[in-house]
Amino acid sequence: MSRPFNFSAGPSMIPVDVLEELSENMVNYQSTGLSLIEVSHRGPVYDEVHNSAVSLIKELMNIPDNYSVLFIGGGATLQFSMIPMNLMVGGKSADYVNSGAWAKKAITEAKKEGSINIVYDGSDNNFSVLPDPEDIKPSEGSSYLHVTSNETIGGIQWKAFPDTGDVPLVADMSSDILSRSVDVSRFGLIYAGAQKNLGPSGVTVVIIRNDLLERSSENLGAYLSYAVHAKSNSLYNTPPVFPIWAMKLILEKIKEKGGASAVAEKNRKKAEVLYSAIDNSEGFYVSPVGKQYRSDMNVVWRLADESLEPVFIKEAAENGLIGLKGHRSVGGCRASLYNAMTLEGVNALTSFMGDFARKNG
Ligand code: PMP
Repeated sequence: MSRPFNFSAGPSMIPVDVLEELSENMVNYQSTGLSLIEVSHRGPVYDEVHNSAVSLIKELMNIPDNYSVLFIGGGATLQFSMIPMNLMVGGKSADYVNSGAWAKKAITEAKKEGSINIVYDGSDNNFSVLPDPEDIKPSEGSSYLHVTSNETIGGIQWKAFPDTGDVPLVADMSSDILSRSVDVSRFGLIYAGAQKNLGPSGVTVVIIRNDLLERSSENLGAYLSYAVHAKSNSLYNTPPVFPIWAMKLILEKIKEKGGASAVAEKNRKKAEVLYSAIDNSEGFYVSPVGKQYRSDMNVVWRLADESLEPVFIKEAAENGLIGLKGHRSVGGCRASLYNAMTLEGVNALTSFMGDFARKNG
């Protein structure tokens, strides 16, 4: 069966060998006679999967010992609320960088929990650039400072992060976790829904520095408390076993391929190929994002003649290139180049773009 190249923003491509391994083991998991998704989450078979997934994340992200890795449901969206619920202490204020659509959603939820300072607002430049990290300083009494490491809709990505001193830096890495190396010790908390670089939807990875667990109030509902999840190794309740299993397999593939730095190199190359095709199209395709902030994960562009965009997207799909429609809030085109996308897929896309420009230019 030939598969299309899937450029969707999430849920998104999963390596085909992982899909095959899931399929082969779905009915009879490693000759146990049962599926992994029908055995107890407290038994030895699932236990191995769960703990391997935690260890692989720690290893691949080089996470220091004073951090916990948690698996929580509810998507990154639940984290928009859990972060302020757990981490806002004292005068209950926190700092946020407004870098685009996802940062805005995080801000909207945080405002329900306390007082929010916007330390940078990109709405003036239509979120086409990010601030210089050196210019981002936490406010007096702030509980934490929140950034969105990659804006999935706007296609901008932080290349270096602010130094926030004693104020914990919190990052939404939903769309670029494990796509490159980051120094985890610079962050108080990192979170990411799995459905882009790590697996299917249904599990969110939260990496939290252990001293911050002391901030979770005893009055929080159990599921909403990081301290509760950490104390029980994310087994306070039934975890999302299927996505965690799939994530474990994907993490194994990342390790086989040489880890985060090897993956980053491949991702850089893919993005370069696509941005060059846009920049060298003599204005037929246009990138709205400032060069130094361009995302390696979500490449967004317009056609100079916007009326051709629906035709471009339709013909691309007919040529086995799917998921290229920009987010409904902004329109245009977007190709998501997460870890599972191959250079072959990107080459197929740029070759189609060249043909389309010649035909319609
Ligand atoms: N943050 C970012 C950067 C995202 O891209 C997304 C989803 N596309 C979310 C948060 C929300 O994630 P979820 O749908 O898992 O709640």
